[in-house]
This record gives sequence, C-alpha cells and structure tokens, in this order.
Amino acid sequence: MTDILETIKGRLAGKIKEANFEGANIVLYTQNETFFIEGEGKIKEIVNDIKKRIELRADSKILSSKEITEKKIREIVPSEAEITEILFDPQRSIVVIEAKKPGMVIGKQGSILNEIRKATLWTPQVQRSPAIKSKITESIRSVLYANNNYRRKFLDSVGKKIYQEWTSEKMEGWVRLTFLGGARQVGRSSMLLQTPNSKILIDCGVDVASSGADKFPVFNIPEFNLDQIDAVIISHAHLDHVGLLPYLFKMGYKGPVYMTAPTRDIASLLSLDFIGVAYKQAERPVFSSANVTEMVKHSICLNYNEVTDIAHDVRLTFYNSGHVLGGALVHLNIGNGFHNLLYTGDYKYSKTRLLDPAVTIFPRVESVITESTYGAKTDILPPRKETEEQFIALIKETLDKGGKVLLPELGLGHAQETLLRMEESMRLGEISKVPIYIDGMVWDINAIHTAYPDFLSSKARTQIFQDKNPFTSDIFSRVGSPQERKQVIEGDSCIVIATSGMLVGGASVEYFREFAINPNNTMILSCYQGPGSLGRQLQEGAKKVIIEEEGMKKEIEVKMKVVLFNGMSPHAGRNEIINFFNNMRPKPRRIIVNHGEVSKSLDLASALYKLNRVETNVPRGLETLRLK
Ligand SMILES: [Zn+2]
Repeated sequence: MTDILETIKGRLAGKIKEANFEGANIVLYTQNETFFIEGEGKIKEIVNDIKKRIELRADSKILSSKEITEKKIREIVPSEAEITEILFDPQRSIVVIEAKKPGMVIGKQGSILNEIRKATLWTPQVQRSPAIKSKITESIRSVLYANNNYRRKFLDSVGKKIYQEWTSEKMEGWVRLTFLGGARQVGRSSMLLQTPNSKILIDCGVDVASSGADKFPVFNIPEFNLDQIDAVIISHAHLDHVGLLPYLFKMGYKGPVYMTAPTRDIASLLSLDFIGVAYKQAERPVFSSANVTEMVKHSICLNYNEVTDIAHDVRLTFYNSGHVLGGALVHLNIGNGFHNLLYTGDYKYSKTRLLDPAVTIFPRVESVITESTYGAKTDILPPRKETEEQFIALIKETLDKGGKVLLPELGLGHAQETLLRMEESMRLGEISKVPIYIDGMVWDINAIHTAYPDFLSSKARTQIFQDKNPFTSDIFSRVGSPQERKQVIEGDSCIVIATSGMLVGGASVEYFREFAINPNNTMILSCYQGPGSLGRQLQEGAKKVIIEEEGMKKEIEVKMKVVLFNGMSPHAGRNEIINFFNNMRPKPRRIIVNHGEVSKSLDLASALYKLNRVETNVPRGLETLRLK
C-alpha cells in the first residue's frame, strides 16, 4: 500500500503545504488562498475515489490575525445568535464559535460559516452554549485547548496507524471475542475483540457493588497486553461500562478511546466522583484525576451514524441506544464486510421523555451481543404511563403526610427522566409544590444534557430550542455543600435526588441514614440493585441494616417506606428485548447474551433461540467465542 497522504498531495500538484491525519480523517493545509476558497470540487473528486473524509484548511501563514477574525465574525454573525465565546485553535486553523443559537451562526446551508471561512481563512466550528453552566464541560474543553499541540500529534499518529496497512479488500481470517467481565453478571463490562491484525477493547467497567478483585474486569490473561491494544470503545457513561477506563492510562495506555461527546463529559465527571467516593470509604482510589485528564486527551468523539475507521480492518459506527444521553449501540464492520458485530451495550426499546427508542436497522449484522438486565420471563415492565402515575401517587401520599422523599439514582439516565416527570406534575398541580433538591453530580449531568440537545429525542430537543428548557425550572435547587445538606435534612417536606443508586457510598447514603427512622418518609429505588449492595438489602425488605461511616459500623433501623420501581427503567424489559430482535434488520445469525444475572441471561437466550432460530450463547467470564 502506497502512502495515502503522498498520493493525495501528488494529485493536488503543489497546492498542499502539509497533509496529516486527525484520527481516520485526512486534513490538508494549503498556503494558496484561491485554492482554499475554490478547491472544494477537486477535493470532492478525491473523496469519491478513496472514500475517506478529507478536510481542506488554510495554513497558519495565510490566516487573518485573531483580532481581525474575531471582529469579522461579530460583523458577519447576526447579533440574535448571541455569541458567548470565540476560541482559537491555531494548531489546526480552527476557530470555535460558541453561541446560544448555533443555527444562526451556521446560516442557511452553512452560508454564514462559508462567509466567515472566506473572510478570515479560518475553519469555523460552532458549539451550543449550555443553558446551565457545566464546570466539567468547561474544564474538558480547557484540557483539550491546553493540549492542542499534543492532540494534533496524537490524532496524526492514530491515523498513521490506521492507514499503515490499509486496504479496501475483504479480509480473510478470523474474529474472536473474549469476555473479561460482564458475562453472566451485571457490572464490570469489558470485552477484547481480536482479529489477525487488531486488538480492540470494548467497554471497561467496574462492578460498583463488589469489592476486591471482583470489582474489575480480568486483565491478567496472556492475550491481554495493553501495549497491543489498537483502540478502546466505550458504549456509554455508566460506571459498569467505563469506570476503570482512567486506570488504563495509569497503566500506560496511550491509544485512542472512541465514544460520543456526552459520554466523554459524563464519564469524566463520574470518574472524578468515583475517586471522591473511594476516599470517603477510606479506600485508596485505583486512579487519580491526572489519569482522567489523560483519558480526555486521548478521546476521539463520534456522533451517531458517523462511520469511522478505527483500525485498518475495523470500522466503527455508533447508533442511538435509547438508554442514556450519548449512549450507543456499537456496530463494528470487521475486515471490509468479513464480519459485522453489533454490541448493544445497555439499551431501551421504547420511547422515553428524553430519548428515542434504540435503532434496529443496520447495513449488515451477523452477530449481536445483547444485555439482559431485565431478561427473565418475570421481567415484564409495566406500561410506562401506569408506572408514572403510581410513582406520582406515592410522592403525593408522602408529601401530604409532610414526609420527605428520597430518590437514590445513578446520576445519569433515570434521574433526568424522573426530574422531568416531577417538574411536570408540579407544574400541573398534581402534587404540592415543594423543593426538589438535587445533590451534587445529578445537577452537572443535567447541565451536560442541555449542552448536547442533538443527542436527545426530537421532542426534548424542540423544548430546549424553544427556550422551554425543563432542566432550568426554578423548582430545582442544588445542594452543593455539607451545610446545605444539613439544612435539607433538618428542613421541611421535600424531594431529594442523590447518587449513588445502589446506596453504595455517595450522598444518598447520608440522606438515607437520616430519613430512615421516620415512617412518614419514603425511599423509591428505581435502578438495578447489585447483590450485596445496601440497596439490594433494602429492596429485599431488611428492617435493620448496618452502614459504615469513617470505618465505624452503625446499625440503622428502617421505618421509612421503601418501594421498588422498575417501570421507568432505562433498560429494555423482557418484551422490549424480544421486540428489538423481532424488528432488527437484517436478521442476525447469532445472538450472544451478557450483562445479566445468570438465570436471566440463560432464560433470555433460550427464548431468543425459540423465537429466532439462531445460535445463542451465554458466555462465562473469560470465555472466548470465535465469531467467524
Ligand atoms: Zn447503563
């Protein structure tokens, strides 16, 4: 294979000063102003031939100065767009325009952006200013800007590796998949995909409810060698899928991590929180905030439906999974159509307040790995409307008695659905107007939702676009300090939403400790409760539980009402999983079941076998399957 960059430069005879990679994309820099403005047709011809994305940018030599560029941008963009910030990335000749109404910066068919490009020779990009300020999104952006130089080199090296032995021919050989965690269990999801040429790690989670070595995927096996990993793919930001990712950087990983932008932001936030929780439990955290920064520096963010080469024989596409903001079904085209694998991660196959159901139509699919959290015969989730009504009735009953409601949540997904449901009920007068306290991280995750409306359902997006953003309602109050928490605990009737969802560390345990004694209070558990967790004990009806604080064990008597609510789960219930496969096109030849307690996974596999007449597998931990 000849050098792809030299081939392109050759075809554009003398007009290209420099060519390099940004991941799988090719970027050309020119010092020829006319070619920069008029060369698009020529570039399109080459794109059609080589079927790779190519972007033409101006070399730094011919760019307008930052001052002039900023002035021109403010002249060209209508003031109604409300520009909040203009940021320069001179390493890549990019100017980022952050505005409240990004559509007005883009203009009809990109007309305004084009005008900026011609007037300044910078390549403009547009970002929406989040409706709620998010510290994490800001600090991630500043990490990326501060490391512009490193990023440029890193992205170039990723591209070089992808194209090194690049070929458009169909590969022959084999594909193997090893389950490092998350097989016959919920938690520590991680898989190693191997071909004769590539090794790819898919997800890198922790089992929050476990302790010791069982908390993490098993990496100490001969075929796992961090130096040989070509890429890491993360399906979504829940800790059981991403919680150990920063640790890979601590161990020296320097390769790319592919995920969506909201997943990157939320995963960073949850990882930093995970460090804090470990300290509070007097454990030594397995990674540091510096490792989280490395993770951000090595992230490559993709949108849904964007096809990208991640190794010279593996092409990745993310599709909406309907599970949480930025959550993705992971589709891998291996060896130019040799084998097509779909990994569902976690998914939901019905509409929710914020998200559309998971996608079921793919170009090709031969093997599918599906989650089975609610895969058992008995896991039929009740109709959403009915569940929501019961949920609201329960809150009403508690508030009418003057009690407090505690909602332990994962932070991402269900928490936002619940908040929006309660906001609506208060607005409609179905329940009395009391403060809804959001403790810590859930607030930041709400902010991230408002920064990425493109990842939400069209209905939720429209609300945000029309300035009817439910997340900014004044019934929500943030609890940001121990003093504020104390006021909430001692104060009047209210609703509190706090992490963690299984009551393993986090603020939810502190509220539980104080609320438990009062029979007028109610706690509603809605997420999956891992075996051994405090949440699981309470779900099973424990009336006395032991909690540990600062190394001391304390017995808590539980008089408050504890109710389990699965109906609004962000996971697919049994029927949804079955419908997902009924509607999947094309039909897969093999279904592999993971991410479920063993009996549920086995039960689901046998049902899917009977209905679809395809091979089904329920691999054990460390088992390797040959996919082809
Ligand atoms: Zn999840």
